[in-house]
Amino acid sequence: MRSVDQTVSTGDLPEWDRVKAFVDQAYRHSLDVHDGAVTTRIPALSQADPDLFGICVAEVTGRTYGAGDVDHPFSLQSISKAFVYALVCEAVGHDVVMDRVGVNNTGQAFDSVMAIELNDGHPMNPMVNAGAMATTALVPGDTPEAKWAFVQQGLSRFAGRDLRLDSEVYASEATTNQRNLAIARLLESYDRLDVDPVAVVDVYTRQCSLLVNAHDLAVMGATLADGGVNPLTGEQVVPASACNDTLAVLATNGLYERSGEWLFEIGVPGKSGVSGGIVAAAPGKGGIATFSPRLDTAGNSVRGQRATAFLSRSLGLNLFASKVHPHSRHR
Ligand code: GLN
Repeated sequence: MRSVDQTVSTGDLPEWDRVKAFVDQAYRHSLDVHDGAVTTRIPALSQADPDLFGICVAEVTGRTYGAGDVDHPFSLQSISKAFVYALVCEAVGHDVVMDRVGVNNTGQAFDSVMAIELNDGHPMNPMVNAGAMATTALVPGDTPEAKWAFVQQGLSRFAGRDLRLDSEVYASEATTNQRNLAIARLLESYDRLDVDPVAVVDVYTRQCSLLVNAHDLAVMGATLADGGVNPLTGEQVVPASACNDTLAVLATNGLYERSGEWLFEIGVPGKSGVSGGIVAAAPGKGGIATFSPRLDTAGNSVRGQRATAFLSRSLGLNLFASKVHPHSRHR
């Protein structure tokens, strides 16, 4: 199938003044949501101000518009999984990631050990910790340092600027990382990791600790939506096929065990992280990033979901929505 040239089916965002008005409305519409709680999973993240809230839209043309705390830095956390996966899809190819990591939803929490046991040691998909670490293990590089350099440079190319590590968040997670170490050891026991599990967990923890803001994240999402071209820098970061693969796995598992609800309500591939970020990518149109640290019990920002739902409807992003054609002969 991949030998056939792909025809795509995409559209445009509304006129830019309307996009700006809808972003402002989405912000106001979600500001009164105070449900959820800041994560306690990583001690350094539990200190976050729960009232922070930012939204940014980046169009594939390179235009961006934000509301609220768009410049506030936060660590990527699980959102890094999406972009590392795209880089690895290019590096090792569609078939290898399909075989080694998988694309199906586990139906379990992101840090589930049970999901590995239930599936004969197969990680199942790259958006849960087991699959994300199996993906990071496939990153090119003979040493952990080389793998880390590849990841840091690759994610920076998605953002269009050099992304730096939050050393406090990294240190905090590195000392409380027993569960991820256990997951990596379990994968090793099933012969699913070809590299040192401790080194893989370390690179994975670093990728989670990279700092972005909502503006960066919207540009990263727009790059996935733009056939792999960063709309700010014009750089082809990954091929369009890697974006296609990545958005498909985001649709199946971008919001963990709530991915079905997200797709049902919002209808756009997205990815969340425990620091409170969510990125959504509307193919051919752009990226939406939200940041708000209060999370639901699966680890997804509550305000972020509300704001993205609002924008999906108002900007016409739902991939599954259609209207009766005006020239339908039955009208
Ligand atoms: N670094 C976190 C972890 O691996 C990321 C989890 C998340 O964002 N859901 O546990």
